[in-house]
Amino acid sequence: MNTSSKPRVLVLGAGFGGLELTSLLSETFGDGIDVTLIDKSDAFVFGFSKLDVMFGHRTADAVRLPYSNYAKPGVHLLRQTVTAIDPERRRVTTDGGVHEADFLVVALGADYDFDATPGLADTNEFYTVAGAERLRDVLPTFTKGRALVGVCGAPYKCPPAPSECALMLHDYLVKRGVREACEINFVLPLPSPVPPSP
Ligand SMILES: Cc1cc2nc3c(=O)[nH]c(=O)nc-3n(C[C@H](O)[C@H](O)[C@H](O)COP(=O)(O)OP(=O)(O)OC[C@H]3O[C@@H](n4cnc5c(N)ncnc54)[C@H](O)[C@@H]3O)c2cc1C
Repeated sequence: MNTSSKPRVLVLGAGFGGLELTSLLSETFGDGIDVTLIDKSDAFVFGFSKLDVMFGHRTADAVRLPYSNYAKPGVHLLRQTVTAIDPERRRVTTDGGVHEADFLVVALGADYDFDATPGLADTNEFYTVAGAERLRDVLPTFTKGRALVGVCGAPYKCPPAPSECALMLHDYLVKRGVREACEINFVLPLPSPVPPSP
């Protein structure tokens, strides 16, 4: 039960969606509402930063934006893992306890299902920071042969990212003087890299 006069807003996930919403709420209502933002991680990373990590332009540490630097009036950020959601009662269980809300927002993003495609787990990927770091170490060993940038199915996060990867790989290989010895293939389940903007 809410004993305070302020409406309680509970936002699950401090990714793009959760951070944008809680920032807007804070800028609009300030201390007039009681916003709790929950995320299991200690830092936010922009999706595009993973390309920078992969091509060695920036380190994984340099692209981490710690949540401890996120201070917005009226917003309490908790580092906890959500384990259950009761949407009817607007009640959420985490590894840190139970939270109740007047308004509940779920912004937990989407996880990757590597096992859905046989063999995918054994290839390289840049959609996670750990995967981008592994590729950063593999790329310098690629001096000739074929590279395949592939997407296993739609929908997927950030439709332009695989095209960006292929183009950045081209530049990377040109700079290293091995482009002529390498072929870049691109496999996409969409008719064009970014269908809404041909
Ligand atoms: C390589 C790459 C490049 C991209 N480039 C761009 C770009 O240039 N421009 C652009 O607009 N978009 C880009 N994107 C897409 C963008 O990152 C996503 O669209 C966006 O992150 C989705 O936002 P979201 O809030 O729905 O989820 P997310 O940002 O994924 O946030 C979900 C949050 O929920 C948390 N969470 C999940 N489960 C739990 C749990 N059980 N308990 C607690 N917390 C949990 C996670 O830790 C995470 O912080 C890119 C994505 C990738 C992978």
